[in-house]
Amino acid sequence: MVDITKLRDIAKEVISRDDVRQVIGYRPGTYGFRARPAFVLEPADADELIFSPACINNLATYIVIEEKLPVPRGQEPDSRKVAVMVKGCDSRAIIQQLEEKAYDRDHVLVLGIPCEGVVDMDKVNARFPNVDKGDIALEGDKFVISFNGTKEEVAKDELLADKCKRCRYPTPLVSDEMLGDEVERFADDDFSDVEVLEKKSRDEKWAYWEEKFSRCARCYACRNACPMCYCEDCVLTRLEPMWMRRSVDISENTAYHIARAYHLAGRCIQCGACEQACPMDIPLMDLNRKFYKDVRELFDYEPGTDAEQPPLLSTFSVDDREDFIL
Ligand code: SF4
Ligand code: SF4
Ligand code: SF4
Repeated sequence: MVDITKLRDIAKEVISRDDVRQVIGYRPGTYGFRARPAFVLEPADADELIFSPACINNLATYIVIEEKLPVPRGQEPDSRKVAVMVKGCDSRAIIQQLEEKAYDRDHVLVLGIPCEGVVDMDKVNARFPNVDKGDIALEGDKFVISFNGTKEEVAKDELLADKCKRCRYPTPLVSDEMLGDEVERFADDDFSDVEVLEKKSRDEKWAYWEEKFSRCARCYACRNACPMCYCEDCVLTRLEPMWMRRSVDISENTAYHIARAYHLAGRCIQCGACEQACPMDIPLMDLNRKFYKDVRELFDYEPGTDAEQPPLLSTFSVDDREDFIL
């Protein structure tokens, strides 16, 4: 459980430091049950910070955005740290970004949030539609949903995000300061969801993905929400050479998703931010998790768990399986 007063006090202390340029956390959203990112630049801004099961964004995405900001001519880059609040799954993005040398470790100050689970906002909105403003809290094995002066309790399992049902790292794997007590692992991942898809025939798999990809609007929200999609010049939207056209059709959409999945193989840390951001309800985690499972089985590699290990695709071991090489 995170103490909000302590969270705000720590944020105030951190933003008051000379070597910190901003604290990135969460604050209430403007509509429905959502929370949204907060960018704290002054101690007074910290009073609006929250943490609740509605804090679903992976804020590690903003570290790389900050690091990539162009520096105006004649100005020195801001070398002060970006402080960021991360849940267990989100912290793995920082480890993977560090593994890839996206920025230096001393550029970031990690405020770890031990986490007992967040909601699947689609499930919340389906159960409580058209709510202008509401709050969600976790009390034991129930979510308490408050809106319009009423409170309703819902069993945790009914609204919990799927990724939390298989969470192996609820306590951040990297942090400079922990904002709550360690949360013991409360779930495990047996990949049974991936196995269901693996058992389909080739034609069935194509029918499944054709229906999903044909709905994609190519809005790129999935890419933009992803902490591991941080290339300055993304191959998926590059104009010269243009690797794929902008047209929204099954051929180009399929190319987009296959290219993105391969670019994330051995890098995706399973935070689910892409799928949550998708306005077309495309089950992107089905694709990500198949790659994740294969990488674990073939190379015994789990992205975002050890900043000292080299990135999977830039290493070679004589023990690597090679029976797929002709
Ligand atoms: S996957 Fe784990 S760390 Fe991430 S939100 Fe769910 S319970 Fe929290
Ligand atoms: S592909 Fe999706 S699940 Fe994987 S790191 Fe990116 S946002 Fe997270
Ligand atoms: S967020 Fe959804 S609709 Fe938008 S590009 Fe990604 S998969 Fe397609």
